[in-house]
Amino acid sequence: MNWIFVGASTIASEHMVDAVRSTSGHEIKWLVSGVEDHGKAWSDMHEVPNFTTDYAEALAVQDASVVYISSTNEKHHDQAMAAIAAGKHVLCEKPLAMTRLQATEMVDSARSAKVVLATNHHLRCSGSHRAVKDLITSGCVGDILSMRVHHAVSLPANLRGWRVNDECFGGGVISDISVHDADVVRFLLGEDPVSVVAQKASSPMSSGVEDSVMSVLAMPSGVMVLAHESFTHPFAGSALEVHGNKGSIFGRGIMTQNPTGTVELVTCEGTKTVAYEAYSLYQQCVAEFVGAISGQGRPAADGVDGSKSLAVAQAIREAADSGTRVYVDYGDQS
Ligand code: NDP
Repeated sequence: MNWIFVGASTIASEHMVDAVRSTSGHEIKWLVSGVEDHGKAWSDMHEVPNFTTDYAEALAVQDASVVYISSTNEKHHDQAMAAIAAGKHVLCEKPLAMTRLQATEMVDSARSAKVVLATNHHLRCSGSHRAVKDLITSGCVGDILSMRVHHAVSLPANLRGWRVNDECFGGGVISDISVHDADVVRFLLGEDPVSVVAQKASSPMSSGVEDSVMSVLAMPSGVMVLAHESFTHPFAGSALEVHGNKGSIFGRGIMTQNPTGTVELVTCEGTKTVAYEAYSLYQQCVAEFVGAISGQGRPAADGVDGSKSLAVAQAIREAADSGTRVYVDYGDQS
């Protein structure tokens, strides 16, 4: 299968080029970028044979059937809609769009066009997260009472551009990290948050967007989730805790792009280190996406997942802006 990469981005450079190329039978044939010099240099560096600033030119190519979108957030919707209209399967970066309504339109269009739409929520592909989910579903921590997500990091210097200074590009930690954490919560607990309260803050590093947020999500089962995302914490480390009436799960250093960190189970029998498979999260996302295109299984996170996780992130933003409890608006999605 031949891929069109849309966006000469860091995530594509650091993870997705390798993820696609290590998938047997898959090649990156085109790079589309809006920035002539940068895009040309990017495609040369990654030895992508065709480069264009004209998206329509690439979409017209019949033997490229898959589009991967990793442009800035405000472009995702229009670029995905154009790819879907051209009959291409789409793997789109998170957040799937700027609004849940846009995301719903993408999901509906992909369904009508009978193409696969997936969201690159890589964390649900992680061996560590899947080990946590297995522990939850096996019942070894009993009834779940609460979950805490600690995802306060220091944003690398090379990423302190649109993410911290431009709302128009979809900047801010809520669009960047809270949307991932919302997806992790939905994936691990198997239910969608009902309502949210939240507060946000902006440090001198950022202009016009938040770079820290704390929120509490109420789940339909009564489980409460506490989440903390930030760009400004160099030493906090990431963690995930799931607490039940018979035990607790501690995932330390597992809110990452790489297969690192530890998972521990604590019960009345003591503390046990839980083994998990360590493999590339992004290769796994690609594998499940291309499997779905071939009619085998579904993407790790499909369009509906991307849309629902975006709906939660939007509710977090609204709750922080208004200082009130916000009910998550998922629309009519199934
Ligand atoms: P970058 O800032 O690296 O790239 C975004 C866009 O900015 C590029 O697509 C390109 O525009 C333009 N650009 C980048 N570098 C330059 C440059 N040197 N000169 C001129 N223009 C440049 O973004 P990220 O890779 O950090 O993020 C891209 C998307 O991926 C976002 O939607 C983000 O949320 C998502 N993401 C997902 C992750 C995941 O784990 N799933 C992790 C990190 C990001 P053009 O599109 O025109 O080529």
